[in-house]
Amino acid sequence: MKKKGIRGMIDKLKEPNNFISGIYNYCDGWCERCSYTERCLNYSTRFEYGFNEDDDSLENTLDSVSEMFSDLSGFLKEEAEKRGIDLNEEVDMSDYENAKEKANSHPLTTKTYKYFQLVNDWFNSRKEILTKQTDEFIKSAELGFDEEKIQNNVNEFQDAIEVIRWYFTLIRVKINRALHTKFENSYDDEEFTFEQVNTSAKIALVGCEKSLAAWKTLYDYLKEDEDKILTILAYLDKLIKEIKEEFPDVAEFKRPYFD
Ligand code: SF4
Repeated sequence: MKKKGIRGMIDKLKEPNNFISGIYNYCDGWCERCSYTERCLNYSTRFEYGFNEDDDSLENTLDSVSEMFSDLSGFLKEEAEKRGIDLNEEVDMSDYENAKEKANSHPLTTKTYKYFQLVNDWFNSRKEILTKQTDEFIKSAELGFDEEKIQNNVNEFQDAIEVIRWYFTLIRVKINRALHTKFENSYDDEEFTFEQVNTSAKIALVGCEKSLAAWKTLYDYLKEDEDKILTILAYLDKLIKEIKEEFPDVAEFKRPYFD
């Protein structure tokens, strides 16, 4: 597809389209599992910049990100010039910086980072166990056990791994974002702040809940690692409670389209 960059996207918005305005602000970014791809401008942008599901190599992704930022930066400079805005003008960032510091040093940020480390270490040290489980599935198939049942088990197992992998980095990013927004005083609009804080916290909470279910699935399969998995389950369960304490409205809060 011919790349048209940011101007192409703006043109696209001027034409009749089916996009849902700002839907990408409420999602967990897992486009491969999203039912709104056809209606999401953000998803459409991926193709404008060459993000490609068939080539999700780091090199291709970094090239696309770099191209996107350079295009965006050029666009901003041109627009600022047209509107007489001085992009070099000093802006008071103290409120932003204070909020950032408070969010970064908050116990919940530390705890979500600890969860990230637990999972990262688990994946790095459990390659053998995961290979062994895959061999078990193959062995069951070779022994002539019910094929459909084995396939369901394989799907369930793979899904649990994918869910854990998707959310273990996202949870800490979203919690940090929710805390940052909560501590920043520069927003006058309380309703906007409420929605921003709870949207980020909700994405993290849903990620924790889905991960909890996924770990329970792995617990059923990986008997020889049940102690470690139990530790992670207990940690995640506590994290969910603490997220709900820090963000008392998050459990009831509903994101448009996704809850
Ligand atoms: S709304 Fe769906 S398609 Fe759009 S960015 Fe989010 S996950 Fe991806």
